[in-house]
Amino acid sequence: MEQIVYLDGAFVPVAEAKVSVFDRGFLFADGIYEVSAVLDGKLIDNDAHLARLKRSVGEIALPLPETLERIVGIQKELVARNNLRDGLVYIQVTRGASIPRDFLFPKAAKPTLVMITSEKDIVNSASARTGIAVKTVADIRWARRDIKSVALLAQVLAKQAAAEAGCQEAWMIEDGKVTEGGSSSAFILTRDDVLVTRENSSAILPGCTRKAVTKLAEERQLRVEERAFSVEEALAAKEAFVTSASLFVQAVVRIDGQTVADGKPGPITGRLREIYIDFARATAV
Ligand code: PLP
Repeated sequence: MEQIVYLDGAFVPVAEAKVSVFDRGFLFADGIYEVSAVLDGKLIDNDAHLARLKRSVGEIALPLPETLERIVGIQKELVARNNLRDGLVYIQVTRGASIPRDFLFPKAAKPTLVMITSEKDIVNSASARTGIAVKTVADIRWARRDIKSVALLAQVLAKQAAAEAGCQEAWMIEDGKVTEGGSSSAFILTRDDVLVTRENSSAILPGCTRKAVTKLAEERQLRVEERAFSVEEALAAKEAFVTSASLFVQAVVRIDGQTVADGKPGPITGRLREIYIDFARATAV
């Protein structure tokens, strides 16, 4: 079956979905995106993702072309039309197309809204069992990383460098501290069992999975400290892991070729992964 995507009001086969070369997403990366997971055909923690979408577009004065209620309806219809059981729904909204190319916001352009699904078995992924290796890279991104902008060149380069080094994720470093993963939030569990993840600020994206996992951990009496940590601290930690909509919770077992603890996914990471998956299934819509 050919994949169906959503583009500006229509559900169309991929080959028929066309966006103008004047689209500002293409020319200026003038757009915002979101990614929600799908389990058993249902959306995971979707309200949090749509709240962040609303905030991100607001921060760049980009009007959403549809209400959030309508966007949920489109997400669900797209999942159904593609018979998607497990995977992701990607949403992108850009400031639209206007001619000629000009930096200033166009007066008449209509935002472009695109949604795409992809299949992914997040629950049974092999890397969840083995853990992942990360490579550290300098964080060369702009100063508003709290906005989920489609301007992802720094992350493209970071994740490519990680892959070329045989790693599955990049950890980005600024002022000697980890900001976050290329497309994930970073956590460590210290020797005295404190879960540490960087505090939200314009230096990182406020991860939806990060938020859910810290809340679930606190509800289970695990101490959570929101502060920056260094690679040295991560290498001395009991456990390390990343969170994201497309990974849920995944152990980090190597950083720049050095093992974290015994180089195997730790028990608290494994437990938090199970707890998150239970939460995801229980709250899916
Ligand atoms: N940080 C960055 C830079 C990301 O790109 C992502 C997800 O794409 C995350 C963190 C994780 O966010 P979430 O848990 O909302 O998927």
